Amino acid sequence: MNIAEILKFAIDLVAVLLLALGIKGLSKVRSAREANLLAAFAMALAVVGLIVNYLGTSGIAAEAWIWIIFGTVVGGCLGAITAQRVPMTSMPETVALFNGCGGMSSLLVALGVAIFPTAAGAGEAGSAVVEDISIVVSVFVGSITFSGSIVAMAKLQGWLSTPPWMQSRVRHAVNIALAVMSLVAAIELGRRGDNVSALWLLVIGSGLLGIGVTLPIGGADMPVVISLLNSYSGVAAAAAGFVVGSQLLIVAGAMVGAAGLILTQVMCNGMNRSLVSVLFGGALGASAASGGGGEYKNITSCSAEECALTLEAAERVVIVPGYGLAVAQAQHTLREVTRALEAAGVEVSYAIHPVAGRMPGHMNVLLAEADVPYEQLKEMDVINPEFPATDVVLVLGANDVVNPQAKTDTSSPLYGMPVLDVQEARTVFVVKRGMSAGYSGIKNDLFELANTSMVFGDAKKVLGDLLVELKELGVGKKG
Ligand code: NAP
Repeated sequence: MNIAEILKFAIDLVAVLLLALGIKGLSKVRSAREANLLAAFAMALAVVGLIVNYLGTSGIAAEAWIWIIFGTVVGGCLGAITAQRVPMTSMPETVALFNGCGGMSSLLVALGVAIFPTAAGAGEAGSAVVEDISIVVSVFVGSITFSGSIVAMAKLQGWLSTPPWMQSRVRHAVNIALAVMSLVAAIELGRRGDNVSALWLLVIGSGLLGIGVTLPIGGADMPVVISLLNSYSGVAAAAAGFVVGSQLLIVAGAMVGAAGLILTQVMCNGMNRSLVSVLFGGALGASAASGGGGEYKNITSCSAEECALTLEAAERVVIVPGYGLAVAQAQHTLREVTRALEAAGVEVSYAIHPVAGRMPGHMNVLLAEADVPYEQLKEMDVINPEFPATDVVLVLGANDVVNPQAKTDTSSPLYGMPVLDVQEARTVFVVKRGMSAGYSGIKNDLFELANTSMVFGDAKKVLGDLLVELKELGVGKKG
């Protein structure tokens, strides 16, 4: 080992440790922001390590510098601009796009080494067999991840819809044929690494398989698929790490692969869906997108003024944030309302359902933006036993996650999904614009219960009115 290699090894080791710390920090809202920066710094360090290694060993040609600088500047700018501009409600699409980029990178690295076997760094990790298998895995998973992620993003954006034949059983036959085609190409490529026809057959077969599997999946299940594709992008990166002999890429890819898989399982549990039914069912998504609902009888509604009067008299209030709160961008107004209540001695907590909103942690991020103290956020299992001792529950733009049907109606598509038992509280106010359904597209029995009152309107407008009413009542005024 020369100095450059030792230096690269040390930098890689630090980068892996920082990345692991970063991923660990992401599991807590309090440390997530710093953890994200730490992980980004670890990745930048990894690039520096690679450059140091090449400078000390084979050197870097002048034209290669141009490509390195070009890639860094263009990629960095695109990433920064996208991250700044994307609204929180479009985060699943953005994650899908980034996953697709990850899959494409691994695919390109493996293709580069397969087509130009003398590429720098190739083969350092071990024998030719390991390298050939790694190329096959990297091309196969990378290609599926790339095409699947782009389809997922296009479907969520509304640019693409499922053609009718894709919802029939024909799609299974097509997908099996594509899987067999990819398998044959993969075996041939594993046997003879220089078989370029097999290589391109594998790229095309697995790319089409990614489209064939993702296209029939409905919008409601898409975030789960995106999380799964995130895991695939990690697997593809780990395989690319074996291809170019980068221990750092192997470790980072494995961590992303495992984290994505765990997240997928958590989301499936939260929605009471099995991964198999998400991947091969496709039915729930169709109904979800339609946003129907059902006939409601005996709905009670009230004004912001009446709601404020009840809140003023309460000792314990629980806020249930949902997708509508994010759409209305009402988190800051909500914080002003809860500040006023807290100043008047009311105990306020926030009930966080694991799949409230459109992606895991959506509500935590939204509330953190408005400086809601982390200690007040309570997960479903913690808050559910506390509802019977709660005076008022304020449901803000949430629907499915508070639907009691999930526990009582065995014929409901939501049956079995864990939900927040808000109906156990003394009074429930539901703030939403009308009677339309949530993501699952079904009726919500909560709205008809005797202790529930609807407060119709945009969440931001209603919370603004509530604040005015609370101030008029003198709630939260010191002295
Ligand atoms: P939801 O069931 O989608 O309901 C959102 C409600 O917000 C709607 O009923 C809508 O009613 C209301 N709304 C929309 N805009 C509003 C506005 N500006 N002001 C006030 N209200 C507004 O939301 P959720 O209860 O948060 O449930 C999340 C759903 O997404 C679940 O079905 C879950 O399975 C699914 N999902 C979540 C994830 C995840 O990871 N979080 C992933 C995949 C799927 P109006 O139109 O009448 O106002």
